[in-house]
Amino acid sequence: MRPILTTVSLNALRHNLSVVHKFAPHSKIMAVVKANGYGHGLINVAHGLSAADGFAVLGINEAMDLRDAGFQQTILLLEGVFCAQELNVASNLGLNVVIHSQPQLEMLESAVLNKPMHVHLKMNSGMNRLGFQPEAFNRAYERLLACENVADITLMTHFATADDETGIEQPYNLFKTTTQGLNLPVSLANSATILRHPKAHADWVRPGIMLYGASPVGDTAAATYGLMPAMQFTSEIIGVQEVKAGETVGYGNRFTATRSTRIGIVACGYADGYPRHAGLVSGQSSGAPIAVAGQLTNTLGRVSMDMLFCDLTDIPNANIGSPVELWGKQVPVDAVAAASDTVGYELLCAVAPRVPMKVVD
Ligand SMILES: *Cc1c(COP(=O)(O)O)cnc(C)c1O
Repeated sequence: MRPILTTVSLNALRHNLSVVHKFAPHSKIMAVVKANGYGHGLINVAHGLSAADGFAVLGINEAMDLRDAGFQQTILLLEGVFCAQELNVASNLGLNVVIHSQPQLEMLESAVLNKPMHVHLKMNSGMNRLGFQPEAFNRAYERLLACENVADITLMTHFATADDETGIEQPYNLFKTTTQGLNLPVSLANSATILRHPKAHADWVRPGIMLYGASPVGDTAAATYGLMPAMQFTSEIIGVQEVKAGETVGYGNRFTATRSTRIGIVACGYADGYPRHAGLVSGQSSGAPIAVAGQLTNTLGRVSMDMLFCDLTDIPNANIGSPVELWGKQVPVDAVAAASDTVGYELLCAVAPRVPMKVVD
């Protein structure tokens, strides 16, 4: 069998949940498990995070899978429903739906439901993605209040700049002003807000990336915050080549040896979800970090569909069969992301279905 594997640690998920609790001790935790639990497997992740007060997903199918697996917590549909039929299913499953637009509001008003719905009313606080503009927010709120299909309302928004120097001051104040006097539960904080902006923790926090042990704010931050990587992505060396100075490696000759170089061929490529441009983004030529037989080295040349190259010159004991960590404990996913001009989120979500996944306690 091809030696590639992801290993998901339930212990790391539990630990990271406790870190969220440490940062936001007075908030209930809505664990964001969209995108197949950020690539870790929805149900795996739900087991690791079963102490969370709720789960947030996108699709009604994910909510059904969680209910089928026995999870009784609050489940939030982050984009609400996409048609009237889904409202009935959502109401029967006792889900919490986001209402972010006028058509969704009207759909709820005209629905015939068995049970009234739990609703998260979303305000657009400047990200200009989903949500009612502040001017329209109170009117939407009043209509929900008058709607017999509504059981209860939570107020929410999502910040565009919690992870950078802009911060959340302006959107936070806008939300406070707009919702002044409404004595309702509030949900504001993604991972970056949880870590950096305690005043916006509110009643519910919505951590995603930090639960998986990666950082919303930079490539060394996860460890600084005491987070543990929940995914280890591993493979093995399946070939070794000795090249002389001046020889090239891989498609497009993107690496030229400047000394006698021992090249390791790793069974992992972009069809496994490893970024094709890792180590080759502008301004970098030193490859992406990778660990072989427990030692750190770097990738070389261009990543192929099924394989990639790494430098074994200074790891003489490495050979065919040596273990490789693509990311995980020794190599933070955020470091591979930084060498690929992207974020850990994208790499975790993009691990391909053909990579087997093992779950460990
Ligand atoms: C994805 C998402 C989150 C989680 O964000 P992280 O940066 O992964 O913590 C929270 N809230 C909403 C609305 C989201 O879409």
